[in-house]
Amino acid sequence: MVTLSSVIRPLASHLHRQLLRHTRRSQWLTPVRGCNLTACSSRYVLSQMHPMWQGPLAVPGGDRQSPIDIVVRKSVFDSQLKHLIADYDPTTCQQIWNNGYSFLVEYDDTTDKSTLKGGPLQDKFRLCQFHFHWGESNAWGSEHTVDRRLFPAELHLVHWNSDKYSLFEEAVMEDNGLAVIGVFLKVGKRHDGLQKLVDALPAIRHKGSVVEFTKFDAGCLLPNNTEDYWTYHGSLTTPPLTESVTWIVMKQAIEVSHDQLAVFRSLLFTSAEEEVQKSMVNNFRVQQPLRGRTVRSSFSPFLKESPSDQDDQHTH
Ligand SMILES: [Zn+2]
Repeated sequence: MVTLSSVIRPLASHLHRQLLRHTRRSQWLTPVRGCNLTACSSRYVLSQMHPMWQGPLAVPGGDRQSPIDIVVRKSVFDSQLKHLIADYDPTTCQQIWNNGYSFLVEYDDTTDKSTLKGGPLQDKFRLCQFHFHWGESNAWGSEHTVDRRLFPAELHLVHWNSDKYSLFEEAVMEDNGLAVIGVFLKVGKRHDGLQKLVDALPAIRHKGSVVEFTKFDAGCLLPNNTEDYWTYHGSLTTPPLTESVTWIVMKQAIEVSHDQLAVFRSLLFTSAEEEVQKSMVNNFRVQQPLRGRTVRSSFSPFLKESPSDQDDQHTH
């Protein structure tokens, strides 16, 4: 009997390489995502559908898919959740790349120089890249939501388990293979740390373009408060959608300016050769059912600040 995983794994692995790391100029085989916003008409959804979500992707929906809506009153406080230790070495930063769906800042992950430990993690994880998801307006764009609240953008810092695996490509297919930190972006003051990145974006406007980008400390994009977070078991939100991710979603958002987000939106899904250019916006996946999973929190919801104060403490 041919097992499902024997079919899915090579396909997923192949797609993964195409999308996330190596095949910078290849055509994408990609699946469809609708829009989870009630404001979206079906015409709007069709017009905004990215090719990544239109192909014959055969990865079936599992029971641990991401992103999800985090329902604060249903999250379970776990006093065993430790502090996160993000120890990033800016010298491992290598390049920035428009992969046709987002832009990726990629790190040298051949050594344990930039790592994530602690929090819900038993092992040590290496930083390999970070990227963002964002909307065409400030009213939406994040993949996760908190009590249905949408943020204009969401940062994902992607790490793989270097204690258990020797390559990202191996870890991405395995349970406990990846740890992704999610950070919500909200509109406010200009973020000084982010600006170096924003300044580099015009050079990678088109799909497939890549430029050297060095000495960027990914830690500057974390909120001041990294002690308060939610964690749950989920999946990648782009193909291969493997359910290998320990998600760590920060409670506190970081503040960026409208102008900085406008530069994100000036990027293009399309390559320089394509006749019709498409703005890189709404590059998020539709929300997925929780299916009995528990979202744990590192903080007690009964001791927190009033909702209006929760995400307004951040300054950079
Ligand atoms: Zn992402």
